[in-house]
Amino acid sequence: MERTFSIIKPDAVARNLQGEILAMIQAAGLRIVAMKQIRMTRAQAEGFYAVHREKPFFNSLTEYMTSGPVVCSILEGDDAIRRYREIMGATNPANAAEGTIRKKYAQSIEANSVHGSDAPETAAFEMGYFFNALEITG
Ligand code: ATP
Ligand code: MG
Repeated sequence: MERTFSIIKPDAVARNLQGEILAMIQAAGLRIVAMKQIRMTRAQAEGFYAVHREKPFFNSLTEYMTSGPVVCSILEGDDAIRRYREIMGATNPANAAEGTIRKKYAQSIEANSVHGSDAPETAAFEMGYFFNALEITG
């Protein structure tokens, strides 16, 4: 069993798509072991995306991620990190495969509806950034 961290981003929450995206996640067999809807401060978004600090899109990205509420969750399953990335689809929706969340819902390379951890180390950091032990159910 592996765990990964997911965010349903502001563009999707603004269009009331939390339920539809969670249904796609659950249909793929991933289990939700923690979940909450929050609105990040700029400082929280900057800390979360610290690895992208030097990227040209960093300011725009952190502004977008704080533009409205997001749904954070921890997903569990076999090979959860890789499988969730597969269900999400490519970062740029123009390159996302049919049947993926980003192909179906993303609006642009920035407003791409979902986030998923890309490795065990980033998953561990991201889960701890948003959830404490009491908020994670077995
Ligand atoms: P995420 O980390 O959100 O799961 P990802 O791993 O597919 O997405 P990253 O390269 O980590 O992509 O980029 C993080 C986020 O920054 C993207 O999901 C997107 O919202 C935004 N982003 C990435 N590249 C660009 C770009 N060229 N222009 C604008 N925004 C971008
Ligand atoms: Mg990433």
